[in-house]
Amino acid sequence: MFSKILIANRGEIACRVIRTARRMGLKTVAVYSDADAEAMHVAMADEAYRIGPAPVRESYLKIEAILDVAKRSGAEAIHPGYGFLSENERFAEACAAAGVVFIGPPPSAIRAMGGKSEAKALMETAGVPLVPGYHGADQDPALLRAEAERIGWPVLIKASAGGGGKGMKVAASAAEFDAQLASAKRESAAAFGDDRVLIEKYLERPRHVEIQVFADGQGRCVYLFERDCSIQRRHQKVIEEAPAPNLPSEVRRRMGEAAVAAAKAIGYVGAGTVEFLYDPAQGGFYFMEMNTRLQVEHPVTEMITGQDLVEWQLRVASGEPLPVGQDDLTIHGHAIEARLYAEDPDRDFLPQTGTLEHLGFPPCGPHVRVDAGVRAGDAISVHYDPMIAKLIVWDVDRASAVRRMRAALGATQVVGLATNVRFLEGLASHPAFLGADLDTRFIERHRADLLPEPAAAGPRALALAALGVLLDRERTAREAAAASADPWSPWVRTDGWRLNEEARDTLTFRENGEDRLVGVVYRRDGYRLELPGGESVTAGGEFNPGGTLEADLDGVRLSSVWVRQGADITVFHPGGSHRLTLVEPLTGALDQDVPGGRVAAPMPGKIIALLAEPGSRVEKGQPLLVLEAMKMEHTLKAPSAGTLTAYRCAVGDQVEEGNDLVSFEAEG
Ligand code: ADP
Repeated sequence: MFSKILIANRGEIACRVIRTARRMGLKTVAVYSDADAEAMHVAMADEAYRIGPAPVRESYLKIEAILDVAKRSGAEAIHPGYGFLSENERFAEACAAAGVVFIGPPPSAIRAMGGKSEAKALMETAGVPLVPGYHGADQDPALLRAEAERIGWPVLIKASAGGGGKGMKVAASAAEFDAQLASAKRESAAAFGDDRVLIEKYLERPRHVEIQVFADGQGRCVYLFERDCSIQRRHQKVIEEAPAPNLPSEVRRRMGEAAVAAAKAIGYVGAGTVEFLYDPAQGGFYFMEMNTRLQVEHPVTEMITGQDLVEWQLRVASGEPLPVGQDDLTIHGHAIEARLYAEDPDRDFLPQTGTLEHLGFPPCGPHVRVDAGVRAGDAISVHYDPMIAKLIVWDVDRASAVRRMRAALGATQVVGLATNVRFLEGLASHPAFLGADLDTRFIERHRADLLPEPAAAGPRALALAALGVLLDRERTAREAAAASADPWSPWVRTDGWRLNEEARDTLTFRENGEDRLVGVVYRRDGYRLELPGGESVTAGGEFNPGGTLEADLDGVRLSSVWVRQGADITVFHPGGSHRLTLVEPLTGALDQDVPGGRVAAPMPGKIIALLAEPGSRVEKGQPLLVLEAMKMEHTLKAPSAGTLTAYRCAVGDQVEEGNDLVSFEAEG
């Protein structure tokens, strides 16, 4: 076994690899970009080395810089994690040339599965079933169009070099084909530096079922069953589970054996995933692609098999045989993973950047695992993936596991950035999800039910919000008094605190444009709060170092979290979470309305297409321009009907968040 390994990655996967390495007694070496100098993976590793500036091309993708660190630190092997260099055959080769073990398959196996088109050709010869389509080398647009006609609409255009749903576009009819092809090619060229595509029949209601395989250097290969990753948004996985609900054991076995055959056909070694589309109506399954690395969703397989796949990777890479054979592997219970992202479901899931002011997760144990790569105070930047953490739950059966997931999501607290947690809760509570009625268009179909309007803050939430404000003022007053050595400083008096007679005040909280008033009576022994609806409670409590508020409302103790950012107050309590704006009479109300008629860049990025004619009238929702940011294309639309007077940007412009991109006159 190695004594020291380098992890050529960041975030949650780097932390997850370090955890297993440490348990096995291995020393760990982290690498980091300037943006990550204080990151969690750097803090966790035994040693850490800077490899360059924030952009990935200048740091996490720099092969020479990483190999140089391996040499300087004396690491004997490199774990690439997922993404970045994990499926880069040149990196695997360069490791070998430098005398460092690449913890992954041989370069030839990466190459064989590297392009989706080549992989499909190879699997066709190996007798693995494929979705009807075209995956030839000839990329003449007229030929691609003719192939699409032959396959029959709708078709899916995919980047041959693709991954992560990028460069993938559906063309529902001949009329859409050219535009979708152009967009797939642009996205693919930007993300992978390669604009070749393949075309597949777009299946209407498939499930995404993938098989985890593992091979050692002695020629043995096993499958660790399947994961169902049908809950996807824009072809990206959101929730994954193992085993796949209602998968007949005979299909499981055939799929597992096909996956092992695929791995063997390319001389595979290490952890790999063979992805299939599964058609439950016909019982058929079709090869999509093989990922020659550890997957984001590997924890659900670990939970149901009781194995540590990173430990397996380290053992196999050091030359050991697989720890167990196929017959030793069994499925135990049910596991579900949800990906927590910094993205705003109310703004078409736009990735969010900023600081995690507060981060709270459910306690971990045999039923709950949290794989995170960030802590409170860390930033989510434009440079990297906006995933905050993965929540993984396990229980004896699916229904219990779903309940665990709902509880885990309910106990997840993020302040500072919008996240998809409410959307995940919507998914985990949806009757069709509970009924395991899954397919890859689940989210599209149930979209309207998945983002229920949050309930308005009830009296208890308002009482907690108000109590936090009062205790926070008290603390400020105490600190100010201590600093001025004057126990009767004006700070103390204006708040009425410690005055002999009772003083009154009103706190105004704004929620979704509505003002909610809380009357405050200052008393010698605490506060009395008069809540909307006529209820009134005595309130007291204190802040704990971890940011929690131990409240006492009419003698009932409540553990909650109260976080303030400027005028925004977020309260988490056992009944839910609320974000309220404190309207301070002195500073005036904060007007949060976005001025009508503005189209501003939601994040830094590059303008890649202008879609309307300047001076023309546009409908509400009409696409105006395409912004490429975080390797994805985002279409910005007209906020209302009106006239597009002029564009304030040109194709190729790099724009900053908040830049006005068009001059627009709204109608009416
Ligand atoms: P990527 O490598 O970008 O993740 P995949 O080829 O793995 O792309 O496909 C991602 C997802 O896109 C699949 O899980 C599935 O939901 C959908 N998809 C892929 N191919 C098809 C198809 N032919 N018909 C319908 N959906 C598909």
